[in-house]
Amino acid sequence: MESYSGRMALLGLLQASGAGNTHCADCGVPDPEWASYKLGVFICLNCSGIHRNLSEISRVKSLRLDFWEHDLVEFMKKHGNLCAKAIYEAEVPPFYYVPQSKDCLVLREQWIRAKYERKEFVATSISHEACTSGSREGFLWKRGRDSKQFLPRQFILSASDGVLKYYTKEEIVDWFNAIRAARFHYLRTAFPTAPVSELVPKITRSYFKEGYMEKTGPTHKEIFKKRWFSLDSQERNLIYFKDPLAAFETGRVIIGSKEHGYEVRASLPRGVKGKRWKAGFTIVTPKREFVLTCENDREQKEWMEALNEIISQPMTA
Ligand code: ZN
Repeated sequence: MESYSGRMALLGLLQASGAGNTHCADCGVPDPEWASYKLGVFICLNCSGIHRNLSEISRVKSLRLDFWEHDLVEFMKKHGNLCAKAIYEAEVPPFYYVPQSKDCLVLREQWIRAKYERKEFVATSISHEACTSGSREGFLWKRGRDSKQFLPRQFILSASDGVLKYYTKEEIVDWFNAIRAARFHYLRTAFPTAPVSELVPKITRSYFKEGYMEKTGPTHKEIFKKRWFSLDSQERNLIYFKDPLAAFETGRVIIGSKEHGYEVRASLPRGVKGKRWKAGFTIVTPKREFVLTCENDREQKEWMEALNEIISQPMTA
């Protein structure tokens, strides 16, 4: 009887509007069916799995399946998601990436650990200072080139050149946010009068399409080389790299608009043939024609559609 009334009380609490309990406290999905009775938050099944591994700071129960003692129900009533947010997310820096349910486990777990375990965002905390300065140093046990031993190496992210050299698995989220911090600082310098709300969406570049293609050189007689391409629709750039993890780009093509003479043709210029890949297209720019080949017809179609979408948009001054 006690457990039944407890469960009813919790479900009632969840439905109470304005308490923030209708969505998971950590990833925001609607209708959380679990709760941490140590932290006083309502969470989803996925996040409850992360909390389960943090028994020092959190204990979880199912709202539907578990027994809820009267004092735990009272505790949940007094706390709840809005209350926890006010404490544990009091000072989340604007650049900090707050993961959603679709994000990978590493990001979601580190968000939960940063909030409740390391208490990085409670007021008066200074623990994220290393991150906010826009630079970060880390050690990595990297296998030496000529030896079988693992050697510590220092890697540095610098706000001034914005280059990430390497990261460790444990520090991946710190690095990720350090990169965001560096870019945020750069944007603030570049656009000093823009409000923070306008800068934050610009922190992460939106890559429209990414993948391998092969490209030849300006005379179209050069040997086709396989490169990793990223199409940045915001900046209207097709950037290419030796491989997806290369620190520096090999080159870039600015994608202008139709009015400025840009065009994509579903064919290669006469006499030009791909090396291994035959499905090709040509990007016509006022200065030069770029010849690219794709692994298959589907890739060719997707690249052309993505490029055409940018070309059809007029350029803003
Ligand atoms: Zn969740």
